[in-house]
Amino acid sequence: MDSLPTSATNGPGFATETDAEPHARLTFDLDVDLCVIGAGLAGLSVALEAAQAGLSVAVLESGRIGWGGSGHHLGTVMPGYGVPIADLIARVGLEHASALWALSREGMEIVRTRATDEAMSGLALSDGALEVSNVDLGDRLVARLQTLGVDFGSEVEGWPIDKVRDVLRTDRYFHGIYYPTAFQIDARLYLVGLERLARRAGVRIFEETPAVGIDFSGIRKRISTPNARLRASDIVLAGSVHLGAPSRQVAETLLPVWRAAALTAPLGDRLLEAIGFAGSIADTDGVDHYRIVGGDRLLWASGETTFEVAPQRLEGVIRRRIRAVFPQLGEVEIARSFTAAVGMTVHGMPQIGELRPGLWVASGFGRQGLATTAIAGRLIARGLTHADERWKLFSPFDLVWAGGRIGRIVGQGVYLATRESALAAGALARYRERAAARTRIKDERAEAKRAARRSSAAARQSEQPPAN
Ligand SMILES: Cc1cc2nc3c(=O)[nH]c(=O)nc-3n(C[C@H](O)[C@H](O)[C@H](O)COP(=O)(O)OP(=O)(O)OC[C@H]3O[C@@H](n4cnc5c(N)ncnc54)[C@H](O)[C@@H]3O)c2cc1C
Repeated sequence: MDSLPTSATNGPGFATETDAEPHARLTFDLDVDLCVIGAGLAGLSVALEAAQAGLSVAVLESGRIGWGGSGHHLGTVMPGYGVPIADLIARVGLEHASALWALSREGMEIVRTRATDEAMSGLALSDGALEVSNVDLGDRLVARLQTLGVDFGSEVEGWPIDKVRDVLRTDRYFHGIYYPTAFQIDARLYLVGLERLARRAGVRIFEETPAVGIDFSGIRKRISTPNARLRASDIVLAGSVHLGAPSRQVAETLLPVWRAAALTAPLGDRLLEAIGFAGSIADTDGVDHYRIVGGDRLLWASGETTFEVAPQRLEGVIRRRIRAVFPQLGEVEIARSFTAAVGMTVHGMPQIGELRPGLWVASGFGRQGLATTAIAGRLIARGLTHADERWKLFSPFDLVWAGGRIGRIVGQGVYLATRESALAAGALARYRERAAARTRIKDERAEAKRAARRSSAAARQSEQPPAN
């Protein structure tokens, strides 16, 4: 088994510290319809949907449920994928891109329905998410709103600079896109609820049971674990970057990226004076993603590495980002921090579908894994039981090798360069805004002087005796 990541000892970053029911190891041979490898959001979503459709399902998990990214995220449920819309359209065309977008919205609704089930009671949803630009890009925003609102039929609102700054008191941000149907959930409670739903539907989960090999030959596939063997008609690989031995080829199509996040100590009223928005906020460059939790704390994600580092080493990055965006908050104390790995694909789209008869994949969900894992679960389960072929909408996005160790080094370089250029573009935009404001003041003063000169000249003229 992979060693547990540092995140496992640092908690989920929320007010709640909840663990799923513990599950025993697999110590006896078992026959099922479906074997799912990995009990993260993806694996549990597939297992739940397949069991609800009548299949017998076993899930193998090498560690504990939720020790990876699935128990350590910010809980923002938004439509879309980790690839810019324009790139998606360029790749598959408007109609296909619109169908993919609709699937991500269906994924959101699946999460919303589950989150309101009594199995997840106490999972308070907070509504709305705001995507803000670091640069002044009114024209591009209008084009995006057109695509999202008109072509994709999504509910979105364009927010002008003043409206954004009315709720986020910082000069860092310019325009924004508001997603009224997006929402937030508690990462841990959702995962625990998902496990509960799966268990109730009859899914058998085995923890500390890594799948160490797969024999694909034959109609019934064989999966080996350290102490027992499983036989299944179908297998779903949902192990993300941790998959390892069962299919190195699939594992190597993902670039592992450790994302860092931190929860601040209570910040009191100064936080509500700085941020007057209850939902999640993310900038279009993917530098910062945050929201208020527990009334007056900030849950803030920023900083990524393609090699694992202790979360404490990235706390400074997060503290600096908070200070840069909201200097009025002063020094903030970090109560907890965590990192977890997400799997990034080369094309930015998740891997959802059948690789060969009876072998399925659900991974590569990157930074946006809540709605997308939910829809992956439904599509794969329906593909298995209802001959529903909508999963084929993801077929244009092949498994592409992520470049191994060199890919990770290059990936880190690209991340740093992109982040630096995004920050530089933001600084330039703010400089331009300040320069434009200075010019406006100068012009106004000059105009006021001219007006004063004109009125005193007029006054002088009116004082002169009329020439006769
Ligand atoms: C800091 C941070 C913030 C985030 N915020 C958001 C957010 O706000 N909204 C959002 O939508 N997404 C967010 N994400 C992304 C989201 O968390 C991921 O996309 C999602 O958790 C991926 O789920 P997964 O099931 O594919 O992977 P994982 O959670 O990594 O699960 C894979 C599981 O498979 C198991 N496994 C692997 N190999 C084997 C094997 N051979 N045998 C048995 N078990 C195996 C692993 O032990 C692991 O438990 C965030 C991620 C991070 C790190």
